[in-house]
Amino acid sequence: MPSDHVDTILAHDGDFYGHHSLAPTVHQTSLFTFDSFEEMRATVAGENDHYIYSRGHNPTVRAFEEKVAQLERADDARAFSSGMGAISAAVLSNVKAGDRIICVRNVYPDAYKLFTQFLPRFGVTTEFVDGANSDEVVACLSGARLLYLESPTSLVFELQDIATLAHEAKSRGVLTVVDNSWATPLHLQPLKHGADLVLHSASKYLGGHSDVIAGIVLGSKEAIARLTTFELMILGAKLSPFEAWLLLRGLRTLSVRLERHRYSATAVASFLCDHPAVTKVHFPELSCHPQHTLFRQQYTGASGLLSFQLKEDASVSTFVNALRLFRLGVSWGGYESLVYPAAVGYAASSAQNALRAFMVPQSLVRLHVGLEDPEDLISDLRQAFDRL
Ligand SMILES: *Cc1c(COP(=O)(O)O)cnc(C)c1O
Repeated sequence: MPSDHVDTILAHDGDFYGHHSLAPTVHQTSLFTFDSFEEMRATVAGENDHYIYSRGHNPTVRAFEEKVAQLERADDARAFSSGMGAISAAVLSNVKAGDRIICVRNVYPDAYKLFTQFLPRFGVTTEFVDGANSDEVVACLSGARLLYLESPTSLVFELQDIATLAHEAKSRGVLTVVDNSWATPLHLQPLKHGADLVLHSASKYLGGHSDVIAGIVLGSKEAIARLTTFELMILGAKLSPFEAWLLLRGLRTLSVRLERHRYSATAVASFLCDHPAVTKVHFPELSCHPQHTLFRQQYTGASGLLSFQLKEDASVSTFVNALRLFRLGVSWGGYESLVYPAAVGYAASSAQNALRAFMVPQSLVRLHVGLEDPEDLISDLRQAFDRL
């Protein structure tokens, strides 16, 4: 009995894996053989869907792609060995020399490097805009090739009105690409709002256990076929079968994990709002967030990643060094709570440092609220504030 309900999609695969196996099979093989010259020739000619070589397609990777495609209501999907593999494939498959990209400010720092340091080598330029200001974005669209959104943006959590922007972009022949890693397909489906491509760092919530680096791009059959022929097969950033298997395992619990992340993050955010050492909390689920109305309109909920600003005279290092449950680390989306101080991002030497370029406050601290008891997490924050 197929279903459109997210929890059924996540938990139920039918007899997808053969032999009545309930759990996925890891097809840990580099290639697939043929019974005859005729069968092999027909496959190479594209007349059947026999697997050939795992740099292109592999059944375990395919199962992951199909599951996320169902969640995003996408025609097709292609997995990559990282979120950056997915981002570069989505962008490169749609630009050529002379093209201009419009990108939101505070985009993920390595995506920023792709736009500012890598693509200019091939004659592709990027203009950064305030994504929270739809009029400003629309004013830049004419003549652009691609609109790159990440909603909410990294570190400061600015939302974009995806429905309005995708519509305005489409009417000017501009393609819209959305990084949907934070909301996951459970809380936002950008294709429904008119985006052309959506992508995820599956290293975050889709995997959910801090043990996989992976990415995925979703969209129309034609768009996915194009980036499969060139970006996947030629640049070669394919996902491994074992990591696809870990992702399929992680996906089973996405919905229950996310519910807990959201609940605990909301409790933590409310605690932060009331604390005298905090000047600002960046979390769209809070009714005081400047874009809370837009959040309610386009998202069905938040996940567990948020940030806040310490008051100017408070020491970020004293605060984060005092934390015990929140561990210092990059990334997010796993079971364990993490803290990332923006001030360490400023230490990166690159002249093209995204945090510097977008003037992210040095007092900003990002928290990933994990699956520990929220009371324990709040106590941990409280004792760290008490050291200031
Ligand atoms: C982590 C992250 C990426 C990059 O993903 P990787 O899997 O680390 O390559 C892209 N976008 C966002 C919003 C991220 O947080």
